[in-house]
Amino acid sequence: LPIEFVTARPILQTIEKAGYEAYFVGGSVRDTILQDNIHDVDIATSAYPSEIKALFPKTIDTGIKHGTVMILSGQNKYEVTTFRTESGYQDFRRPDKVTFVRSLAEDLKRRDFTVNALALKEDGTVVDLFNGLQDLKDHILRAVGKPEERFHEDALRMMRAIRFASKLDFTIEAATEAAIKHHAELLEKIAVERILVEFNKMMMGQKPVKGIRYFLETGLYAFCPQLNEQLPKLKRLLKIREDTHLKNENQVWLLMCRVLTISSNQSHHFLKAWKTSNELISAVSNGLDLFEAMDQNAVSEQILFQTGKTVIKDVLTVANVLPNAGNSDQLLDRYEALPIKNSHELKINGGILLKAHITTPGPQLGKLLAILLNKVLTGKIENKQPDLLLEAKKIVSED
Ligand code: ATP
Ligand code: MG
Repeated sequence: LPIEFVTARPILQTIEKAGYEAYFVGGSVRDTILQDNIHDVDIATSAYPSEIKALFPKTIDTGIKHGTVMILSGQNKYEVTTFRTESGYQDFRRPDKVTFVRSLAEDLKRRDFTVNALALKEDGTVVDLFNGLQDLKDHILRAVGKPEERFHEDALRMMRAIRFASKLDFTIEAATEAAIKHHAELLEKIAVERILVEFNKMMMGQKPVKGIRYFLETGLYAFCPQLNEQLPKLKRLLKIREDTHLKNENQVWLLMCRVLTISSNQSHHFLKAWKTSNELISAVSNGLDLFEAMDQNAVSEQILFQTGKTVIKDVLTVANVLPNAGNSDQLLDRYEALPIKNSHELKINGGILLKAHITTPGPQLGKLLAILLNKVLTGKIENKQPDLLLEAKKIVSED
């Protein structure tokens, strides 16, 4: 067993000694059997949250309404969730009402896919009520129970299916795929924020092209923000390199904007509709500015300076993923060669210019600083204060 399980074993043993059941469940069990790396282990138990809290000295109520308590044990934290069923699905969304139950089987039944419905006992035995082990072997994603019902209950599961198809490089079983096609429009009922999470994970998975193919073929795309009627452009995503491995969300959305021919100016509106963070919106917009300069074969030192190293790297990653990518590798070298990387490094500022009576407060001050910055970036003058002051005087006198 991986070290994460070994260190968590005493937690399960404590719960069992008190007369309750406890199992590892969810992604960590699946990924362990697949011999993939795991991050966090989830524990499911027959004990109620109050009973868990009575057993462990340090706990936090992280999701008490849903039956989740976090146990703090040394350096480690474990989410322990009481077995539950979900009842009263309304509007095709996850129910707010959960019912705690004492039976593992009931808990596993509510889970989305057979490979996600395995439970692992502290002694290493696997509980497999839905043939999840066979599906894991065959690399198949199959809904637990009747797929039509399961997607009707919670439409987000359709996005989860394509996310796991990409993440695990699995095939979606035929009846499960057919049910997604049939119910795709239910995705409209789901909060965009939740769709975004699954979409990002799909795009960052091992086999994004596989996930994207399902996303397009099932019609799910048409019920995502701003993607309806974009099929011809979205199909370009099928042409990205097979070995594409996007590392962050900025790369995901840079790629999306490029494929959809969304300009830097238009990207704010598009990304707002997807409810991405403001940091992402600004990074993507900067990245698109650089892309647009690359399109024109007019990448200046200023644009490299403005874009910054992190986003330049994201742009290069995305450029390399797209077919007929030009060679843009020298951009990073050009960035590294810039005399300064940050405007604070400029050896002059507004205060110094005003003190030297070279100019007065107002827009002309900002303009003058911008000109000086450009001259430094393009190597026309050195980043030394006397040189900068001399140059500033010259510019003002010529004005
Ligand atoms: P990852 O490694 O990406 O975290 P995961 O399988 O752990 O994958 P989570 O989203 O963390 O995925 O969910 C944990 C488990 O909870 C799943 O394995 C599944 O059993 C169950 N689950 C999560 N969301 C749903 C859902 N919408 N419907 C049914 N079961 C779900
Ligand atoms: Mg998880």
